[in-house]
Amino acid sequence: MNQSFTPISSLGEFGLIDRMQSRLVDIPRSENLIVGIGDDAAVYRAGETTLHVVTTDVLIEGVHFDRTFIPTSYLGWKAIAVNVSDVVAMNAKPLYATVSAGFPRNFSVEMMDGLYDGMAEACKAYGMELVGGDTSTAHALYLSITVIGEVDEKDVVFRRGANVGDYLCLSGDVGGAYAGLKVLLDQREQLENMGESYEPDLEAFQYVIQRQLRPKARLDVIEGLKKAGVRPTSMIDISDGLASEVHHIGMRSGVGATVRVPAVPFDPETRAVADQFMDDIDAYALFGGEDYELLFTVVPEDVQKIDDMQGVSVIGTIEEASKGVRAYSPDTGLMPLHPAGYQHFDGPPQTDYEELDGDEGPSFDDTEFSGDGA
Ligand code: ADP
Ligand code: MG
Repeated sequence: MNQSFTPISSLGEFGLIDRMQSRLVDIPRSENLIVGIGDDAAVYRAGETTLHVVTTDVLIEGVHFDRTFIPTSYLGWKAIAVNVSDVVAMNAKPLYATVSAGFPRNFSVEMMDGLYDGMAEACKAYGMELVGGDTSTAHALYLSITVIGEVDEKDVVFRRGANVGDYLCLSGDVGGAYAGLKVLLDQREQLENMGESYEPDLEAFQYVIQRQLRPKARLDVIEGLKKAGVRPTSMIDISDGLASEVHHIGMRSGVGATVRVPAVPFDPETRAVADQFMDDIDAYALFGGEDYELLFTVVPEDVQKIDDMQGVSVIGTIEEASKGVRAYSPDTGLMPLHPAGYQHFDGPPQTDYEELDGDEGPSFDDTEFSGDGA
């Protein structure tokens, strides 16, 4: 019997996935499989020119959310939206979802109604159907959702297609979901310290709290890109944080990148939260996760079309792999950009790039219910 015991935390989340993959190499590969592990969703051929994509994401109470803060209808919405986000990141349209749910004994029928109302609302918003699942008791509320989507072969976009000279683009604004998490954690601490007499003031932070509790998948953005005649060369959704996702595109495409920090948009409310906690707003924008915006690259000929689109920004350029992933701002000049961001299981750093001096971004160590939702 093998007595050795290596804690899984020694590998880190991404090391763990590599290790799993190494156990699966002997499975004969179908010629219809186009992409397996390693992108936002797996892609396989479903028809002559039609591809299907499939993705799954789990949300666990105490790891990804705190039930005292998130209304169950928001949780239902979020569970669907984070999966749709991975489908959209392949430039695909979501079709069907299944839901496996584990319910603790203290969960009520009314809460379950709220949960399923939220899921129904998201399914309607994204034009998809919920077609099945599985139900069990559990020690904590647990939701595992799978979404299947569809894309024409000529439209599919992977993490791996970025080329030197392409421009790096971002939908919406970033850092808001992390700001929302900061506010909620702070309120929880105040509640614990002051008990019943404490009245939470969440009015001033509606936007960032919504970003954290009820994120939107950017199906509208891929529709807008299609209308504008832009097919991104690579794409990923922002679950772990902008810096981390730029690294994923870099690694998969075999390229480096420079992010122009002043070009990365954040909402004024996100800035207000960073100011209140005396944090660095750039750290929120670069390392805060769970915004579920789209990060993608386009060929230089398409940059003008991106400039003409509302709510999409050009934030950087793709360079040779030897340059690594860097951040540029007028204050600091060019600096290596470490892929800090949320990772389940603290592992060793995932790349050889140097760490940024000084503030490396929000520390997630003390956040019990932050997650990459993924
Ligand atoms: P995302 O953040 O886009 O949801 P993840 O970082 O969760 O992506 O996963 C990266 C890749 O690893 C994906 O292709 C995913 O399907 C795969 N993956 C994650 N966990 C497992 C697992 N337990 N077994 C097999 N593949 C996994
Ligand atoms: Mg993803």
